[in-house]
Amino acid sequence: MDFDLTDSQRAMKDALRGFLLKECPIEYVRQCDEAERYPSELFAKLAAQGWLGLPIPEAYGGTGGSCTDLAVFLEELATHFEAAANIYYTTIVIAADALSHFGSEAQKRDLLPRLARGEIRFAFSLSEPNSGSDAASLRTRAVRRGDEWAIDGQKMFCSCAQVADYILLMARTNADAPKHDGISMILLDPKAPGVEIRRLKKLGLKPMDLNEIFLADVRVPVERVVGEVDRGWRNVLKTLDYERCCLSAVNVGAARSCLDKALAYTKEREQFGQKISQFQLTRAKLADMEMEIDAARLLLYRSAALVDRGIPNNKESAIANLYSSEAYVRAALNGMRLMGGWGYLMEFDMQRHYRDSKLAEIGGGTSEILRIVISREMLR
Ligand SMILES: Cc1cc2nc3c(=O)[nH]c(=O)nc-3n(C[C@H](O)[C@H](O)[C@H](O)COP(=O)(O)OP(=O)(O)OC[C@H]3O[C@@H](n4cnc5c(N)ncnc54)[C@H](O)[C@@H]3O)c2cc1C
Repeated sequence: MDFDLTDSQRAMKDALRGFLLKECPIEYVRQCDEAERYPSELFAKLAAQGWLGLPIPEAYGGTGGSCTDLAVFLEELATHFEAAANIYYTTIVIAADALSHFGSEAQKRDLLPRLARGEIRFAFSLSEPNSGSDAASLRTRAVRRGDEWAIDGQKMFCSCAQVADYILLMARTNADAPKHDGISMILLDPKAPGVEIRRLKKLGLKPMDLNEIFLADVRVPVERVVGEVDRGWRNVLKTLDYERCCLSAVNVGAARSCLDKALAYTKEREQFGQKISQFQLTRAKLADMEMEIDAARLLLYRSAALVDRGIPNNKESAIANLYSSEAYVRAALNGMRLMGGWGYLMEFDMQRHYRDSKLAEIGGGTSEILRIVISREMLR
């Protein structure tokens, strides 16, 4: 496999880096983190430059980028501002993928061009209080009443619901069907009567809001189902490998940012009359970080290449996600160690990585679930 970037991917990466150095300085990242607010200015500028259309087909107003293009984009964005990369994935990529593959022609024509222009945002709501890793056991019910679905239930852990114009809501539309059947993906208007969204306080990724959603007799027109009624679990499975690949790109970029900051710090800080970068134990940590990030990036590109070629990649994408998430958590921890007490201060950026990194081991499947996926494929 050839992991060299193409000329156009290299040009895209350089252009994005130039844009982010100008429009997304570290002070802006810190402000959004401290104020726990959605980076609306950055997303408006990304939209104006056409960057939001990358995962959207050209026929619907996007630029039709490949999964590898998206990996390059997300890695670079995460290197500058990890939460923004997670928000980009959540509010744009999941919907672009689901609508492109399963949406009706009317849904694609209505929603995808607006998504590419930055006029609308999405959230994705699968998890519930009693169904996390065992997501298919969800209980939120949608019952057909004439031309509408009547939805009742409770959703948990929905990122970006506060800023979303639509929520891709997974609900049980057939209570008698087996667990993985009878689930549908429904386009929910978060402002519809009967929807209540409550923000949850959390450890990191502060600019990306996290919510629980209460649904009481919420009415949605029947044509708002994405894909086939009762076959929505297929949408989720289709999205998973792609999701794991995208999240790996975010992990690699964010881990790279930890290493860059740790390197700069150890070249400046002096103890015992020399730069701490001269100590062999410091160098061992830096070497471990470099090695693991390098390996994670290669696993990411392999998984993206498989997605682009349409080759089954369940195991490879799970490996990339698992390895890159654990590499990122270790990079943040080693970054903290290398900065001693200074890393513990809020005025330095390493603490943000330390807080943000933990979600990498949860989203897209916990580390335990990813190990189950990998071993299941091995034992087939
Ligand atoms: C910040 C944040 C953002 C999120 N955003 C979204 C979102 O936008 N949309 C959405 O739908 N969800 C979202 N989630 C939910 C996320 O997908 C779930 O938290 C995750 O799937 C785990 O589910 P759980 O938290 O209920 O843990 P549980 O499933 O209860 O797991 C608890 C522990 O048990 C382990 N475990 C579970 N099953 C097994 C098993 N079979 N074998 C071994 N160990 C097992 C797990 O690995 C874990 O260690 C988000 C979560 C967070 C924290």
